[in-house]
Amino acid sequence: MTPITRRTLLTATAAGVAAHSLPSFAAPKPYSFMHGAFALTVVSDGHLVLPTTFLAANAPPEERAAILAATGQTGEQFDSPTNVTLIRTGSDLILVDMGSGDRFMPTAGKLWDHLKGAGIDKSKVTKVIFTHGHPDHLWGTIDELDDLVAPQATFYVASKEWDFWHGADATRGLPPERAGFVTGARRNYEAIKDKVKMFKPGDEVVAGLHILDTPGHTQGHVSLALAGGDGLIVGGDVLTHQIISFLHPEWKPVADHVPDQAIVTRRKLLDRLATDKSKLIGFHLPYPGVGIVERKDGAYRFVPVT
Ligand SMILES: [Zn+2]
Repeated sequence: MTPITRRTLLTATAAGVAAHSLPSFAAPKPYSFMHGAFALTVVSDGHLVLPTTFLAANAPPEERAAILAATGQTGEQFDSPTNVTLIRTGSDLILVDMGSGDRFMPTAGKLWDHLKGAGIDKSKVTKVIFTHGHPDHLWGTIDELDDLVAPQATFYVASKEWDFWHGADATRGLPPERAGFVTGARRNYEAIKDKVKMFKPGDEVVAGLHILDTPGHTQGHVSLALAGGDGLIVGGDVLTHQIISFLHPEWKPVADHVPDQAIVTRRKLLDRLATDKSKLIGFHLPYPGVGIVERKDGAYRFVPVT
C-alpha cells in the first residue's frame, strides 16, 4: 500500500472537492430527538474525503469496492460524514467532540455554520466530552487564532488518551501521516489544559451519562452510554462505516491505532447494541448517524432511524 502522507490526504481532499458540485452538500438541518432526560441534537460538521483503502487495509479489494458501490460511492476516494452530538440535560449543554475546525480538510469544520439559526450559542456550551484525540474530533476546539471556540466549557478527556498523545508512544513507530496528528492534538490539548477534567471508563459525567471503555481506534478511545429506554450509545469511531463495520467487524480501518484491540471492541459493542436494542449515534455513519443494530447472517447490520 502507498504510504498516506498529509500531502496525499490534502491532494485527495482537493480532488474530492473539485469532483463534487456544491449543491449536493447543502447543510443538513440539525436532527433533534429526546432520549429519557436528554434532549439530543446531531449536527453535521461536514465530511472527510479519504482514500478507500482507509476503510479496511486487510479487505479483499473487490469485496470492498462492491460494498462501496452499494452505497453509491465509486473511485479511489469516499466521503465520510462527521456527526457531532449535542446533549441538553438539566442546566448543561454538552458537546461530544468539537469537529475538525478549519485546519484539517476544507470539506469539514462546518459545525457552527450548520448550527446557525438553531439557537445554539458557543458561549452556552458548559461541557465538552471527547471520545478521542483525532483531528476530526479534537481540532475544532480552537479557532484560527488558537482561542477556545467554546470558552465557557469544561473539557473532559480520558486520562489514558491524554497520556497517549503527550507521551513518547504517540510518535514512536507510527506511520508518517500521524506526525501531524500528534502536533495538532498537543496544540488543542494545550489550549484546554487549565480547563480539563480527566476521566476514566465507568465514570458518570452528569446524571445518567457514563463513560464506556472502547479502546483500539485510539489507545484511550471512549464512547458514551446514556440512560433511558433501551439505552443510547454515542459510539465515537468504534463503527465508522454503515456497512463494513457491521458486516465485517474484522476488517481493519487504517485509522485504528491498535487494530486487533479495535476488532475486539467493535464485536463487543455490536453484541451489546444488538442485545439491548439500544440506539447508536455513529460519528461517521450517514447523517444523522442515528439507528439500531440488528444481527444478520452471523454478522450485523445498521438500521438508521430516519
Ligand atoms: Zn473520526
